Amino acid sequence: MNRRLPLLEGRAEATNRCTYCPKLCRPACPVSTVEGRETVTPWGKMRAMDELLRDIEPAEEASRAAMAWACTGCGRCRTLCLLDNPVAETLWDGRADALANRIAPEPVSRLVAGWEHHRAQLQAAAGDAGLTGSGSAVAVIPGCRAVREDPSGARRTLRSVEALTGGCHAVGGECCGAPLWDAGDREGFFRQAERFVAAVGPDATELVVSDAGCAWTLRTLYPQLGLAPERWVRVEHLAETAARKLDRLRPMEVGGSVAVHDSCRLGRGLGVYDAPRAVMQRILGRPALELPSSRDQSSCSGAGGLLPITRPATSRAIAADLAAEVRELGPEVAVVTSCTSSRSQLRKAGVRADDLADWIARSLGVADDAG
Ligand code: SF4
Ligand code: SF4
Repeated sequence: MNRRLPLLEGRAEATNRCTYCPKLCRPACPVSTVEGRETVTPWGKMRAMDELLRDIEPAEEASRAAMAWACTGCGRCRTLCLLDNPVAETLWDGRADALANRIAPEPVSRLVAGWEHHRAQLQAAAGDAGLTGSGSAVAVIPGCRAVREDPSGARRTLRSVEALTGGCHAVGGECCGAPLWDAGDREGFFRQAERFVAAVGPDATELVVSDAGCAWTLRTLYPQLGLAPERWVRVEHLAETAARKLDRLRPMEVGGSVAVHDSCRLGRGLGVYDAPRAVMQRILGRPALELPSSRDQSSCSGAGGLLPITRPATSRAIAADLAAEVRELGPEVAVVTSCTSSRSQLRKAGVRADDLADWIARSLGVADDAG
């Protein structure tokens, strides 16, 4: 038993499986595709975890550990792996062990050290924007990024859910903890999850979540870890809520073409592919365009897994590849995604990108009434 790396030790079978595999998943990984290096293929990263478990020189440990963060968690490798090997899950365990052993990359340690400051900023932003509340059966989770960077958009999301479900309240001042999970700070994540559950309040039985990453965390990770209270009878992404109430959405006059991007966490993560398409078809009066890679083969935007802070150039290059896919459909094609971070990545890469929540708000005719 490797006492320093207990989580990775439990993944030894998975790392071994990759080590002796002919690398069927090689074309799937956005990180190795843009970096063009064997060491960051899923195989290379799993091998690095395997080497961490062996007796390597202490001076080499940090470089091996860094491979655990050379992953967006997109899950695409698993779709090509005949052995269904849990690469991302193994790398995430490697992250936790590496952080505990103080061999995590510096930007990751900085994120963890600055968490309480980040949390205070989020609480202030949510308070200023009127994105906190309690007492309703439906809690709306607008997502930290939206609260900080686009509070008007987050308020429109709240109004949209109100229009779709009746009464609801926003939980904008506490993060679900996903960045801490990605950092490998398990203790910090569990502490933050407790705060989040308390902020949702005792009356909420349904959560409507605007960001795909938060939706995956709350619907998949929380129950896996025993963190979801029994009273939560439904946790769904806004796309699913809107798809159940399609008759409430008004068709719009839209010039130009719009394509749907399947974000990793909503698509491969939660298996939700049809809901965003149904919503866009209702709004556009015609099916949205499909990107060259879609559904379970959809391309990652490079925004996940903390890649933007651990390998910023790689993250940008992955976004540029996705932007090129959009442009393949035509120079003026716009794209709609269910992941706020993917939207930012695509916009920075020069593509007209919107969050599905923006389209839903416009179709419902809701306004930002707090300004
Ligand atoms: S993830 Fe699967 S296909 Fe890829 S190297 Fe590992 S075992 Fe092979
Ligand atoms: S989860 Fe995505 S980024 Fe990570 S190794 Fe697999 S394909 Fe690469």
